[in-house]
Amino acid sequence: MKNILDLNINELQNYFEQSGEPKFRVQQIYQGIYQKGYTNFDQFTNLSKKLRQQLAADFVLRSFQELERITSPLDGTTKFLWQLTDGMKIESVIIYEKKRVTFCISSQVGCALDCKFCATGKMGWLRDLTVGEIVEQVLQMKELAERPPTNIVFMGMGEPMLNYDNVMQAADILADEAGLNFSRKKITISTSGVLPGIKRMADEQRPFRLAISLNAADQQKRLQVMPIAKKYPLEQLFEAARYYYQKTRKRITFEYVLIAGFNDSLQDARNLVALSRKVPCKINVIPVNSIDENFPAPSQESVARFEEAIQESVYAVTIRNRKGWDVQAACGMLYAENEKKQLKLKTDKL
Ligand code: SAH
Ligand code: SF4
Repeated sequence: MKNILDLNINELQNYFEQSGEPKFRVQQIYQGIYQKGYTNFDQFTNLSKKLRQQLAADFVLRSFQELERITSPLDGTTKFLWQLTDGMKIESVIIYEKKRVTFCISSQVGCALDCKFCATGKMGWLRDLTVGEIVEQVLQMKELAERPPTNIVFMGMGEPMLNYDNVMQAADILADEAGLNFSRKKITISTSGVLPGIKRMADEQRPFRLAISLNAADQQKRLQVMPIAKKYPLEQLFEAARYYYQKTRKRITFEYVLIAGFNDSLQDARNLVALSRKVPCKINVIPVNSIDENFPAPSQESVARFEEAIQESVYAVTIRNRKGWDVQAACGMLYAENEKKQLKLKTDKL
């Protein structure tokens, strides 16, 4: 059955036109789904019973099953593991930070790019998410969050630029004035540096924010942890970043996952500062959530030292406070834990 969350307002309008319904039905449906948060078609009491039945016969409105939910006692960070209709699993996260409420969502099941420090990379690529599956993560979490989201970031599982069309359609739906009306400037697409996607976002003048995961400030180091750096070397990545800025005039955010003994020295900080001068940007330093002993988390002192070294020279630096992540683990890790559990259940049965 089709998922109604796959459809943008024009597509839904076509559906109603074909069913001989007036156009304003679309507004009613969008309001019900995105503003009132209805989870099934019976709740649309402003529609006739016949139409409700027709909708229920043609579409699903929710397709996820919640498998796990873990909340950090430290800061309320909440991670969800959802099961999709084909049995595949994805994660999404709510992060509370003062007034900010960030919804971190997935774009693919797994990821093909195999960054060495990333738990999702270990899964390999299983499939792309549909538009509806991307949108549903936001709707599900909106029902469960303490406060409505202030930011939506594509920093969960997967590489958004390798599922470009679905990611952009989902972001457009979330921003549609007739529905959730979420601010386009508060939606961030994060990429590991897939150049064609960055160029396309610039050419299409997409109104969302762009984040690029740098993670190392020189090509050789970057190659060690991010195989994608071979295909799209750092120099070309910065050309693309400059191109993006020229076209959109939007400041890019560079993410830098800080790994002890690998990219946290003063020289690394200097290299990062030198790079950051090439294009107007902000820098997000993220202490690594260690997935194995090869990628140890930096000490608090080392994070502070690194921050100090780059702060004066860079327009804006934020160190992501990830207290909650200590108990939750990084994206992809809840999935991995769950897989292990399932395996144990299976072997116990033998
Ligand atoms: N594929 C995209 C978006 C998903 S990853 C990208 O790479 O940008 C989102 C962010 O999480 C990236 O900046 C990535 O570098 C970071 N990340 C991955 N594994 C991590 C870990 N173990 N600890 C901290 N951050 C991690
Ligand atoms: Fe994929 Fe991003 Fe993880 Fe790299 S960091 S493996 S691109 S999800």
